[in-house]
Amino acid sequence: MRGYNVFFPQGWDCHGLPTEVRVEKTIGKKKSEIDPEEFLRLAKEFTWKWIKPMKKALKSLGMSIDWTTEYVTMDPDYWRRTQLSFILLYRKGLVYRGEHPVLWCPRCETAIAESEVEYVQVTRSLYYFKFKLKDEGEVTVASTRPELLPSCVALAVNPEDERYKHLVGKTAVVPIYGREIPIIADEEVDPKFGTGIVMICTYGDKTDVEWQVRHNLPVIISINEKGVMNENAGPLKGLTVNEARKRIVKLLQDEGLLVKVEQTQSNVGTCWRCHTPVEIIPREQWFIRTIKFSKKVLEEAKKIKWIPEHAIKKLENWVNSLDWDWVISRERVFGTPFPVYYCKKCGAELVVDPDKVPIDPRKDPPPFDKCPKCGSTEFVGETRVMDTWMDSSITAAVHAGWPDNLDERLFPADLQPNGYDIIRTWDYYLIVRGLMLFGKPQFKIALINGMVRGTDGRMMHKSYGNYVSLLEVIDKYGADAFRIWVAMAAATGSDVRFSWEGIKFASKFLTKVWNAARLIYFYAKEEVEEVTEIVNPIDHWILKELSETINHVTNALEEYDYQGAITKLVDFTWHRFCDHYLEAVKYRLVKGDKAAKYVMKTAFLRTLQMLSVFAPHISEELYHRLYDGEWKSITILPWPQPMKFDKDKAFIGEVTVAVIARTRSLKYEMKIPLNQPVSRLYIKAGKYRSDLEKGVEDIKGTLKIGEIVFVDELEEGIELPDYPEIKVKLEP
Ligand SMILES: [Zn+2]
Ligand SMILES: [Zn+2]
Repeated sequence: MRGYNVFFPQGWDCHGLPTEVRVEKTIGKKKSEIDPEEFLRLAKEFTWKWIKPMKKALKSLGMSIDWTTEYVTMDPDYWRRTQLSFILLYRKGLVYRGEHPVLWCPRCETAIAESEVEYVQVTRSLYYFKFKLKDEGEVTVASTRPELLPSCVALAVNPEDERYKHLVGKTAVVPIYGREIPIIADEEVDPKFGTGIVMICTYGDKTDVEWQVRHNLPVIISINEKGVMNENAGPLKGLTVNEARKRIVKLLQDEGLLVKVEQTQSNVGTCWRCHTPVEIIPREQWFIRTIKFSKKVLEEAKKIKWIPEHAIKKLENWVNSLDWDWVISRERVFGTPFPVYYCKKCGAELVVDPDKVPIDPRKDPPPFDKCPKCGSTEFVGETRVMDTWMDSSITAAVHAGWPDNLDERLFPADLQPNGYDIIRTWDYYLIVRGLMLFGKPQFKIALINGMVRGTDGRMMHKSYGNYVSLLEVIDKYGADAFRIWVAMAAATGSDVRFSWEGIKFASKFLTKVWNAARLIYFYAKEEVEEVTEIVNPIDHWILKELSETINHVTNALEEYDYQGAITKLVDFTWHRFCDHYLEAVKYRLVKGDKAAKYVMKTAFLRTLQMLSVFAPHISEELYHRLYDGEWKSITILPWPQPMKFDKDKAFIGEVTVAVIARTRSLKYEMKIPLNQPVSRLYIKAGKYRSDLEKGVEDIKGTLKIGEIVFVDELEEGIELPDYPEIKVKLEP
């Protein structure tokens, strides 16, 4: 339409926890209870099952995707690309394996990234209990997680806190466990929380991780990867975290150490997929060195155009909140395998060569003869898989043909469209991995969309009972009505509440367009001659209105303001073109007026062209029925340009149309059928008299009026809403 050759690819991001959790729920077993090969087969089967309706929905919506580009990330050819990206970063020293505390979901039994943790506000009990000092005396400490006492490695106070200065350097004894621990000072301790004395445990939260390193404290892990207390927990061993909390509170009470319990609001990190509270446990994992790129990411993000502009804030806040490198290994099954083997003898990690991928070290023989370090010939494959964002963080490059034949015209991508919920994942990872692999972000413009929520304002969810399937909407009202509604209902980037009323409105509008087309078909089915000499003021008026609409819609679309574009277009089509112009031009069509036919048909084609952006199906259909033109599809016609018109004549047309509109409703109010002739119309026109005198024929013709009489005074006349100076009076 605008002369660009647009590339619109389609891929399906398959891997990851959501599918695995769904498979587990469906078969009623956890992944550890089923053969990995079988589990993988089920996960793939599920994925295909769910791609089907999504693909159907995309096609029904009329999205102009190039389906020859379709791909799935679970395909070994995509593995090849993800694995190659891993190898390249490994060779650059940007990937490393290390033991570090990671966020861990005990239900999914896997490490998860910071972006996969959802914080929820909950009311929890805050327990106050006593620690005895080694010398003499005691202190009271408050904690929401007393079950972590077996992991308590120090008490900390704020160095400025006058109440506790004398305690720093002393030794406390962990209740129940009897272990001696130091009392230290740290500026990050909040004197206002609890008693102002906090216990440092390995690990209650991220601050504990920092404190442990900063103060060189020991690490005592008491929770295992299933969320069960281990041998370090003594009397709590074998209990789940929740059971352990109850038990330890009881033990403290029995010892007379529990002081009081308060309710407190706190933020608990949960697994985004299963909502289980996450734990922090140290595990050997694969990491990507993202943290040292944070500054560069923030710099480059500013060069990207964000629509809406404020979307960049989400990215900035996210990058600034990151504390740890990106953990990319997952103790799961359904993901891209690491192209990594380990030497059985010396434990060396062996990353395969780029020409050996795709490879699945869980079953493929190792592509090495012997270990370069110790010469051993025995290897074991890495069994973990990569975070699914490892796949999705190279999509823009893959679309452009990377790594086989990267087309510079497509890279970086002009447009990266996604929801605001994945700015911190998809957009962030595309930028940071783009910088690492290619020295630049992978896209130039981020177009951020809002979400369609349920009618109750909450996110749509089957369990809330507010879920409406897109295919149901399309079945009932068609894709075009849905598209128009969704464009009209909210500004770009804002959420919208689902509304059947809104969709009905859009459907009504489309009926109006269809009926207009029937009228045009009736009078101007054949190809109409071009008329260069246009005299009728109403023709000039509609050309002016059309030109303004073309300018407005074009500018709005350039700015990604879909709401602004469709609102103007609907208003023009419905109220100006259908309600006023078509009504006013009918009597000339009956007489076979060539200019009327030409202007009407041309204006409608331009309207359909603009409408095809929002309602491609009806526009395409009407284009072929009415215009039978040289173009294969309306969606490839050159975009409409503003039309030529005479300003003065257009103004005369506007006033004339205003008189016609008011008089027509007057006929209706007086219960005179519209096609019934009336004898006389009196008009008090004031300064518009000379204009309206030029519109007399149109007023008479349209409303079947015998005679029009201009008068200077009209006592009982009816005012025109837009021109109060003009009054009309009808004589039947
Ligand atoms: Zn989970
Ligand atoms: Zn070795």
